[in-house]
Amino acid sequence: MAEKKVKTFHISTYGCQMNLADSSTLVANMTSKGYQRVDDESQADLIVFNTCSVRDKAEQRVIGRLGEIKKHIKRKPHVKVAVVGCMAQRLGDELTKIAPHVNFVLGTDRIFELPNVINENEKTSKIMTAFGHEDMDLIEPIKETPFSGFVTISRGCDNFCTYCIVPYVRGSERAHSAEHIIHNVNRLVDEGVVEITLLGQNVNSYKYNDIDFPDLLRLVLKETKVPRLRFMTSHPKDLSEKLIDVLADEPRMMPHIHLPLQSGSNRILKRMGRVYKVEHYLSIVESLRKKLDYLSITTDLIVGFPTEKEEEFEQTLDVVRKVKYDAAFMFRYSVRPGTTASRYDDDIPEEDKIRRLNKLIALQQEIAIESNQREIGQIRTCLVEGKSRRSDDIMRARSEGNKTVLFKAGKIKEGEIVHLRITSADAFTLHGEIEEKN
Ligand code: SAM
Ligand code: SF4
Repeated sequence: MAEKKVKTFHISTYGCQMNLADSSTLVANMTSKGYQRVDDESQADLIVFNTCSVRDKAEQRVIGRLGEIKKHIKRKPHVKVAVVGCMAQRLGDELTKIAPHVNFVLGTDRIFELPNVINENEKTSKIMTAFGHEDMDLIEPIKETPFSGFVTISRGCDNFCTYCIVPYVRGSERAHSAEHIIHNVNRLVDEGVVEITLLGQNVNSYKYNDIDFPDLLRLVLKETKVPRLRFMTSHPKDLSEKLIDVLADEPRMMPHIHLPLQSGSNRILKRMGRVYKVEHYLSIVESLRKKLDYLSITTDLIVGFPTEKEEEFEQTLDVVRKVKYDAAFMFRYSVRPGTTASRYDDDIPEEDKIRRLNKLIALQQEIAIESNQREIGQIRTCLVEGKSRRSDDIMRARSEGNKTVLFKAGKIKEGEIVHLRITSADAFTLHGEIEEKN
C-alpha cells in the first residue's frame, strides 16, 4: 500500500525571536511548495517542533510534548514528527533514542530542507545536523503584528560565553549583506509595518565588508522609510560611542537598548567569559544617559553561576539598583552540556539559586515600578498595536522605550502613531490618555 503523503503541517516554536524568524521562513517555504499549515495539531500529517536549547527547562518542555503525542501517532500512524533547530542540533541521533517516533531531526543549518525530505519513504529517522548548508538569503523577515516586525541581520555567535550553548548549536557569526537587510526592511515597510527590530545574537558586532553596525543603522534609515527602528541584542564589549551617537541623533531610532549584564561581579563576569568589567558596563550606561534625554534600558541576568558567593550575588543587586533597569529577564544558571562552564562544579544548591532569583526579581519589580512611575506626566509617541486583552474599549500601544501603554482608544485604530500622556504605571504597564494625534 502506498504511504499517505504529507499534505498538512503544524508547527510549534520555542525560544527566541531567531527561532520565530526561522519558523516564519520555514512556513513560507513549505506553503510555497504546496503544503498547508493547520492550527490544530491533531489535524496535521506532519508535526514540527522548532526547539530551544538555551536552558534545560526549554528542552524538557519539548521532550514532554514528544511524550504526549505518542498516543496520537499510534492512532494515526501516517503522522510524521520533525524536531528542528537548536535542540535537534545539540542532540542529533540521541533525540531518536529519547523519542523513537521522531522521523526527522534537522539542525539549525538544515531546517529549510524539511520540505525536500518529508515525503521520502525512509524506514529509519533522518538526521541532518552538519553545518555549512545554509542559504542565508532564504531567511524571511517576520511580522509580530501587522505593524511591527523583525529583520535578521546576523546569525550565530562567536562569543562563547562559558555558560551558553548558542555558539555550538547556531554556529559562528555570519552577517547578512546590507543590501539584503535593506531589501527586507523595505519589504516589511511596503506591507505597512511601522516598527522594525533588527535581530542578531550580538547585533553590534555586525560587520559586512566595511560596514559596521552604526553604519548599517544609518544606511537603513537613509535607504528605507521605516518610521521606527530598534535592535536586539547588544553586547557591552561592542557598544561604541559611534553607536551611542546614532541612537542620540537619529529621531527614528527608538530610545531603548537591551544590554545584558549577566552578573555584577567582575570575578563571575570573567568566569562567564563576558570580557568586560562592571566599571566598563556602567561607563556605557553613563554615556548613554548623558547623550540621550530619554532611554529605556533592559537586561539579562543569571544567578547561581558556579562558585557565585553571596556577596557576589549582592554585587549584581547593587548594579541593578545603580542602573535602574526598566525591565530584566532573570534566570537561574542551568548547566548546558558541552559548554566550558559545564566542566565547572554546579555547586550552588538549587534552593540558593531559587532564593537569589526571587530576591532579584523582587528588587527588579520595585525598580521597574519606580522607573515606570517616572514616566507619569510625560508624553510618549506610541505605535498602536491592538486591543487590550481585558477590554475592547482599551487599546494597547508600544512606547518608544518599548513599554506597553494602555489607553481609551476612541476613534484611534491599530497601526496609528499616537501621542499619549502617561497617567499611571505599575511594574509592567503604563496607562495613558491621548494628547494629540499625529
Ligand atoms: N545573545 C544574547 C545575549 O548575549 O544576551 C542572547 C543569548 S540567550 C538566548 C538569552 C539569555 O539567556 C542570555 O543573555 C543569558 O542571560 C541566558 N542564558 C544563556 N545561557 C544560560 C544558561 N546556561 N543558564 C541560564 N541562563 C542562560
Ligand atoms: Fe550566548 Fe554570549 Fe553569544 Fe549571547 S553573546 S549568544 S550569551 S555566547
